[in-house]
Amino acid sequence: MTLSKETIKQLYHTHGISNDILLALLATDTWDEELFAYADRVRREIYGDAVYVRGLIEFSNYCKNDCYYCGIRAGNCKAVRYRLTKQEILDCCREGYRLGMRTFVLQSGEDAYFTDERICDIVSSIHSRYPDCAITLSVGEKSRESYLAYHQAGARRYLLRHEAASDALYAKLHPEQMQLARRKQCLQDLKEIGYQVGAGFMVGAPYQTLSDIVSDLRFLQTLDPDMIGIGPYITHNDTPFSGFESGSLSLTLRILAIVRLMFPHALLPATTALATISPDGRERGLKAGANVVMPNLSPLGVRQLYNLYENKNCTGAESAQCSDTLCMLIEKAGYHAVTDIGDVKRPL
Ligand code: SAH
Repeated sequence: MTLSKETIKQLYHTHGISNDILLALLATDTWDEELFAYADRVRREIYGDAVYVRGLIEFSNYCKNDCYYCGIRAGNCKAVRYRLTKQEILDCCREGYRLGMRTFVLQSGEDAYFTDERICDIVSSIHSRYPDCAITLSVGEKSRESYLAYHQAGARRYLLRHEAASDALYAKLHPEQMQLARRKQCLQDLKEIGYQVGAGFMVGAPYQTLSDIVSDLRFLQTLDPDMIGIGPYITHNDTPFSGFESGSLSLTLRILAIVRLMFPHALLPATTALATISPDGRERGLKAGANVVMPNLSPLGVRQLYNLYENKNCTGAESAQCSDTLCMLIEKAGYHAVTDIGDVKRPL
């Protein structure tokens, strides 16, 4: 398979790409410069230089699941657990609103304490106080009825990474009780209810091959999500995967650019994990096509406890309290942080 500048130009024009070319592109950094330039071009055509800033509130790190890669898995007895109260969550929103954020992302482990009733109460309280803001939930796999109830309470977006679209890889990353079919069903339910849906995966997860990544991208094409969350896998010492290496910056950036070219309209965050593996990871993510950042709005005392992976970057520009630093950094990368609800721009 010979790649050339023409290959990338064609991807830019058609948003289509064969499996062979995808595999070849994923395997080399030779064309990164062209990939990033075209990804940036298509992003500017649709979103201009806007970077949407979302406030991330990690409200509980209790989790019933045992995903092998995740630091807050149920089996990690070294994890120090916490939950925020409704009042603490509302205080986070007040601070975020003051800082100009118009989307709040509420994420947690799968914590039985947060029943549907409690989640709906929190969502509707935020919704009535901040009717001009979007509420995004990321609280895992739930029944269709639960998703419907959260939607009726005012949640309009939902992040649920599919994690791995190949059954074989999914089974290596999760215990038997967790099934890819169930994950996919959840994503389908969310779409049908009318949420803006985010799926995605980690780059460089243990056992992941480039063919698995091709499967992930093909799955995303069939799902056609509004948001695509992609960050490097970062190893955590208190998980069964402690011996594995973390994913690479270079492959993550290349995938972000390919995703931007394949999904021109998607909302694509430069993730905290990307900012964690490299000091300039966030800026480089933006330059490779990302158009969303999610600084941490959780109370300072609990931020390090939501440790999905080691050394999580949650201070400095990752922190809402440093939003000036974050804005400067976005400007320096050539973009502009906007105070905007930042809905997806779907083609007409
Ligand atoms: N319970 C919610 C939130 C999970 S945490 C849910 O199921 O959606 C959010 C995301 O962090 C996960 O979807 C996973 O892709 C990512 N993550 C977990 N452990 C990680 C690790 N070690 N390195 C990088 N990302 C990780």
